[in-house]
Amino acid sequence: MTAADAAIRPLIAGNWKMHGHRADGLDLAVETARRARRAPPEDARGEIVLCPPATLLTLVVGAAADSPVRVGAQDCHWRANGAHTGDVSATMLADAGCRYVILGHSERRTDHGETDEIVRRKAEAAHAAGLVAIVCIGETEAQRAQGETLAVVERQFRNSLPASAAAANTVVAYEPVWAIGTGKVPTLPEIVAVHDQLRSLARDRVDQGAALRLLYGGSVKPANAAEILAIANVNGALVGGASLKADDFWAIARSCP
Ligand code: PEP
Repeated sequence: MTAADAAIRPLIAGNWKMHGHRADGLDLAVETARRARRAPPEDARGEIVLCPPATLLTLVVGAAADSPVRVGAQDCHWRANGAHTGDVSATMLADAGCRYVILGHSERRTDHGETDEIVRRKAEAAHAAGLVAIVCIGETEAQRAQGETLAVVERQFRNSLPASAAAANTVVAYEPVWAIGTGKVPTLPEIVAVHDQLRSLARDRVDQGAALRLLYGGSVKPANAAEILAIANVNGALVGGASLKADDFWAIARSCP
């Protein structure tokens, strides 16, 4: 870790995606909160955030009460209210007890046609509601094959982050699309290259950008978490599949340097 990174508290966020009903979601949240409450300092270096589906948010907020675990949503609308059937606003998420919201996940960019501009407007709404936006960016397999990774990630970073972005209200998650849920992971030097570039963009464009948390996401597991989290300019992980098992998620959280 660099000296600048030493002050950044890592963040381990679990993206449950569209998984979980009341019984299993509650078990997972209760178990994670229980471990976090009892964790010795060496196991509690990272901040832990659970991002369940919208139906379980209040349940998970309740389970995480009086624990260091925070709760995040997986999306929000860019408006505070209005005629937007099926959508949930950032103010509603804050009202429900959320601190974080994931925005621009590649599954939303693909499934719902979310552009950088939409992600930016959502991030503005999240900031206005007092939420921390976890903004996801990352290249597709074809873009990587064409050697476009750094250009794509730079463009998404520039266009998805609003002027209101600051280290205190924004986290950027680099998630190569081809690594999500596939078991494939970039090499460590490949992760280093992207995160070094993101740090330099953050310093240029984000208030307190030296302290902006930069997460890696894409097939993080207990077996590879320590080496990824040890990379300078990797300040945590966004975890999908492995966040659905308390043992695996906890093992990843304990891997924070
Ligand atoms: C994700 O959904 O953000 C993710 C990184 O998934 P997985 O860990 O399963 O690759």
